[in-house]
Amino acid sequence: MKKKFKTESQQLLNLMINSIYTNKEIFLRELISNASDAIDKHHYESLTNNIASRDYQIVVTVDKKKQTITIHDNGIGMDYEDLSENLGTIAHSGTKEFLAQAKKVESIGQFGVGFYSAFMVADKVEVYSRKHNSDQTYKWSSDGSDSYTVAESNQELEGTKIVLYVRDSKEYDYAKFLEDYKLKNLIKQYSDYIRYPVTMKNDDGAFETINSMIPIWKQSKKELTEEKINDFYKHKFMEFDEPLITIHTKAEGRLTYNAMLFVPKKAPFDLQNKSYEKGLQLYSKGIFVKDKAKELVTEWMLFVKGIVDSSDLDLNISRETIQESKVLTQIGENLETKLKKELEKLQTDDPQKYQTFWNEYGLYIKYGVYEMYGAKKDLLQDLLLFHSNTREYITFKQYVDGMKEGQKHIYYATGSNKDQIVSLPQMDALNHKEYEVLLFTQEVDEFMIQMVREYAGFSFKSVNHSDLDLLDDKQKKELDQVKEKSVNLLSAIKDELKDFVDEVIISSRLTDSPLCLVSDEAMSFEMEKVLAQMPNAGDMKAKRILELNPKHSLFTSLESAYNKDPLSISKYAILLLTQAQILDELKVDDPKLFSQRVNDLIIQSIQ
Ligand code: ADP
Repeated sequence: MKKKFKTESQQLLNLMINSIYTNKEIFLRELISNASDAIDKHHYESLTNNIASRDYQIVVTVDKKKQTITIHDNGIGMDYEDLSENLGTIAHSGTKEFLAQAKKVESIGQFGVGFYSAFMVADKVEVYSRKHNSDQTYKWSSDGSDSYTVAESNQELEGTKIVLYVRDSKEYDYAKFLEDYKLKNLIKQYSDYIRYPVTMKNDDGAFETINSMIPIWKQSKKELTEEKINDFYKHKFMEFDEPLITIHTKAEGRLTYNAMLFVPKKAPFDLQNKSYEKGLQLYSKGIFVKDKAKELVTEWMLFVKGIVDSSDLDLNISRETIQESKVLTQIGENLETKLKKELEKLQTDDPQKYQTFWNEYGLYIKYGVYEMYGAKKDLLQDLLLFHSNTREYITFKQYVDGMKEGQKHIYYATGSNKDQIVSLPQMDALNHKEYEVLLFTQEVDEFMIQMVREYAGFSFKSVNHSDLDLLDDKQKKELDQVKEKSVNLLSAIKDELKDFVDEVIISSRLTDSPLCLVSDEAMSFEMEKVLAQMPNAGDMKAKRILELNPKHSLFTSLESAYNKDPLSISKYAILLLTQAQILDELKVDDPKLFSQRVNDLIIQSIQ
C-alpha cells in the first residue's frame, strides 16, 4: 500500500538528501543505534515476559555489485502499523526542534536525526521487518520522494533488515561506503560502545565483531577522550553544544552503578514548562529500562541529563515496586551529593565557568534551598551566588569574610535591579557604615532566605525592614528622646494617612534621605507583590511603616509648621507617603490627592 509522508518527514527527508557532504557518514551510527534499541527492547521482553532470548547481533553486509549496504538486527521488529507509524512520521521529539535549527548549524551530524539519515547516502531504502510475536514479514520501501509503500513480504526473517541502495553521483564519492574498511572504521568511530556485537564478514568469509561492546559509561576514564564523550552526549540527548559539565562516576558496594551526568550548556528550552519531565536514562546491567527515571534526580537537579546503569535492580519484577524506587532514590541522593561536590570544586577551580553555570541554573539552586521547608539548605547554601552593592558573584562565605568590625547581621536589599536598590533611602545608614548589602532581584530570593535564616551564626536582615539593629546604647537613648519630643507630630501625620500606613516613626537608619517606607520582619513589600500574583493567596499585606529622618531639614520644617499650626500638616502628609512609594517602586495609594497637593504647592510658591 502506498502512503504519503507527513509534512515534517518530508522536510527532514529533503534536508537529508541535500545534506552537506561532510556529514553523510553518520547514517551508519543512526541505523546501528536504532538496531541496538530494537535489540534492547527484545532483550527486555525476554527477561520480563519470558519469551526466548536470541543470540543478539547487528550484521552489516555489503553487496558491491548491487551497490547495497544491509544492516540486520534480530531485535523486536516491526509490524505493518509500526512500519507505517514509525517510519512515516517523525518519531523523536527533538526532531522538530532540529528542523527549526538545522538551517543555522553547518553540521547536522552533531545531532541524531534517526532513520531518515539513510537517505543521506541511499536513493532507495527497503526495510524488511518481522515483529517478535508474529510470523509475517512486512516490507517498507521508499525512494525518499513524497511517499512510501508497506506490503507483506515472504522473506523469512528475525528482527529488521534495512537495505540501502547507495547513490551514484559524480559530485560525491558514495562508493567509498561500499568499502569494508570504511564501514569498519565508521563502526569503530561512532558505534564502538554499542552493547551488542556489530559484525562484518572478513576476507575469509567469517564474521568478526568490530565494536568493543563496552558501553561508554562503563569504559574507564583512561580509554575515553573528551571528544568521544561529547559526541556520545550530543547524539544521545540531541544536543548541539558540548555539555557544560560532565560527571563520570561509579559506585560499588552497598549500591552498584555507573553513571554519566551532563549539565547542558543551555538550559532545556522547556525547563520552565509544567510538561517538562526530569529524569535520567536507566539501564540495568547494560539493558535499557526507561528513559526518564525521575527518582534519579532530586528536584533542583531537574536540568541534569544522563545515564545510570545499575546492577541493583531486578528486571524480572515489576518496574514500579517500592524496593526498586527506594534503590533509585538512594542512587539519586548519591548523585546529588556528587553533583554538589563537583559544583563546589568548579567554584574554586574555575570561578568563571561556575558563573556561567550560575547564570543558567542559579534559579534552580535557589528553589532547591526553598523547597521542602529548607531541607536542602545545608547542602546547597554554599553554591549560592549574589551580587552586592560592591561586588559581583559572591558567596555567603565571602560576604561573612568581608564583614566589618561590629557588624551584627548579613544585610540584603530587595528591588528590581541594582541601580534602584542602591539608590533606596533605606541604604543610607548601611552605606555610611560601609556595610556590604546583598542585592535580591529575583522573586524567589526573599522566600529562600527565610529558609536559610542564618549563616555562620549571623542572621539575615533586610534593609527594607523597620529595625536594622545598627545603633549602640547611646544612640538608642538619643533616638528615644527625639521620639518623645515628636509624638504629637507623628500621630498627626499618622491620622492623615491612617488608610495607607500602619505606623509613622522616627527613623534610626536615615542619614541623607528625608524619609522612607519600610515593612516589618514578617513580610516585605516584594513578598507581598509575589503573593498577590498567586491564586488563593488571600489579601496578605506587608506592614507599612513610614520613617522620617529627624536630622533632615524636611523634618525640622514639618516640626515648626506643626508648632505654628497643627492643622497645616494635612497638606503635606500625602506628599511624604507618595514620594516614599515612588522610590520603593510601590503602587501609589492616592495619585489624585497627591497631584492636587503638588499643584497647590506649585501655585502657592509662584504667588
Ligand atoms: P528514534 O530512533 O529517535 O525514535 P527514528 O526515526 O530513528 O527515531 O526511528 C523511528 C522509530 O522507528 C523508532 O522509534 C523505532 O520505534 C522504529 N525503528 C527504527 N529502526 C528500527 C529497528 N531496526 N527495529 C525496530 N524498530 C525500529
